[in-house]
Amino acid sequence: MRGMADLVNEFSWSRSRDGTFQDCRRKYFYHYYASWGGWEATASEEVRRLYILKQLMSRQQWAGRVVHDAIELALQGLRNGRTVPVEPFIADVIERMRGEWRSSKAARYRDNPKSVALFEHEYSVELSPEAWRALSQNVATCLRNFFRLPLLVAIRRTSPEHWSIEHWSKVFNFESTQVWVAPDFGFWTPEGRLGLVDWKTGGAPAEGAAFQLGCYALYAREVLGVAPAQVDLYEANLREPLVTPHRWDDERLEAVKEQLRLSIRSMRAYLADPEANIAVITDFERTEDLRICKWCNFRAVCRPELT
Ligand code: SF4
Repeated sequence: MRGMADLVNEFSWSRSRDGTFQDCRRKYFYHYYASWGGWEATASEEVRRLYILKQLMSRQQWAGRVVHDAIELALQGLRNGRTVPVEPFIADVIERMRGEWRSSKAARYRDNPKSVALFEHEYSVELSPEAWRALSQNVATCLRNFFRLPLLVAIRRTSPEHWSIEHWSKVFNFESTQVWVAPDFGFWTPEGRLGLVDWKTGGAPAEGAAFQLGCYALYAREVLGVAPAQVDLYEANLREPLVTPHRWDDERLEAVKEQLRLSIRSMRAYLADPEANIAVITDFERTEDLRICKWCNFRAVCRPELT
């Protein structure tokens, strides 16, 4: 039997990994290498500390995760033929958020790294109660909008046994690299087209959104064997709400593959031993852009003078 202790840090690719690599090489090193194994009882103090810092989420990331989890739960209910009463459902979500907030505020994540850990708490960022309230109000708005979306009406008219909620693979092999780029939701339209949805909760358009959608087109091609011309990609901004449909084609799919190859190649080029996925801290330079450091999980270890 393989236990946790047998886990091997294998190289894999994801959009967030790419983003971290672009942000700061040292942050990337801490996140994907130095904190590895920090969950083990035998981990050194330093590795354990990095592992806890790695889990920190900004409050916006947390709100986004809450919305995504709630939508997944709602869709599971709808798939199983249950009615989901909107306001009590949202009230439940907000109540659970309160519990997570209290747990984070009490720093329970230091002993239990799997529980919610907010950057704002670890780094004592002063926030007014109104700012926290705005966050839960935003979650409620996003969920209310979700239940009112014409896209949801269209989805509900399709056959739920073809919905992808948790059963499609989240990872696939791309030219010998494991790639994690699963869309949030997928369904088959009555016209036999594949609809893939990305729920967005942020205000401003996310950086690299086109690349992300292109990765979903690649996912459709590689995992489901569906050609880009048969795929509808939906960017569902729940805050507005605004759903933007996108189409892809073979040529743009090639461009996405090339971007992916380039990203994988640059990451691997930083490794002391690419075969064994071994990294050495001195190869990973610290960013000079202190604005990135300000919101970096690892600031306390890397640039304590800024804290
Ligand atoms: S504190 Fe700054 S330099 Fe250090 S890892 Fe974070 S972003 Fe990079």
